[in-house]
Amino acid sequence: MKRILIIEDEGAIAELQRDYLESHGFFVDIEPRGDVGLQKALQETYDLFVLDVMLPFMDGFEICRKIRQNKNTPILMISARKEDIDKIRGLGLGADDYMTKPFSPGEMVARVKAHLSRFDRLTGTAAAEAPEQIRVRGLLIDKTAHQVTVNGEEKGLTNKEFELIQLLASYPGRVFSKEELFERIWGFDSLGDIATVTVHIRRLREKIEEFPSDPKYIETVWGIGYRFKLS
Ligand code: CA
Repeated sequence: MKRILIIEDEGAIAELQRDYLESHGFFVDIEPRGDVGLQKALQETYDLFVLDVMLPFMDGFEICRKIRQNKNTPILMISARKEDIDKIRGLGLGADDYMTKPFSPGEMVARVKAHLSRFDRLTGTAAAEAPEQIRVRGLLIDKTAHQVTVNGEEKGLTNKEFELIQLLASYPGRVFSKEELFERIWGFDSLGDIATVTVHIRRLREKIEEFPSDPKYIETVWGIGYRFKLS
């Protein structure tokens, strides 16, 4: 059974989240204090964290950052404030997803499941035997052959284009800032700047998207960067 830790100080919200998750077969702990939540997150074994931003004793940003220094466990951040959401998206804290309050518990469960199965794909079997192919909505990324096809048609991608699509598609739904993409694919030392990312995304879309201005795979998150569409 998958274990989830909810770090949330508003009792009614935490209980609503727990009830929904439990009714979908998850084992759920609730912790109202930020600092204790971090301690539990680091010391115990959980499969996913649902993390509120405004918490007593330590805020969700700091908790997220500290969890990420130690673990890759999926983190779903929750906040009522729009400026927090901008911060979550922009800071590259390592959160996998975020939701704004008020949210639909059904939507939360759907996202929790999506992130758990993605994480299972990346670790579980993946640790021993890396997934060699990603298949989604007609797109096939073959990591061994370094090849991308769309509806069976091979697309000639450059190395950087291939790395971009592979990274984005490995984390569906997760927003990557342009800075993070640049850092992960080009590296700090390389020439160029984040405008390079924009240029490569445009070329990539021209190659793989049927309608580059209405993309099916790579979505623009205005003012931040990009994400691979969940559906
Ligand atoms: Ca709170």
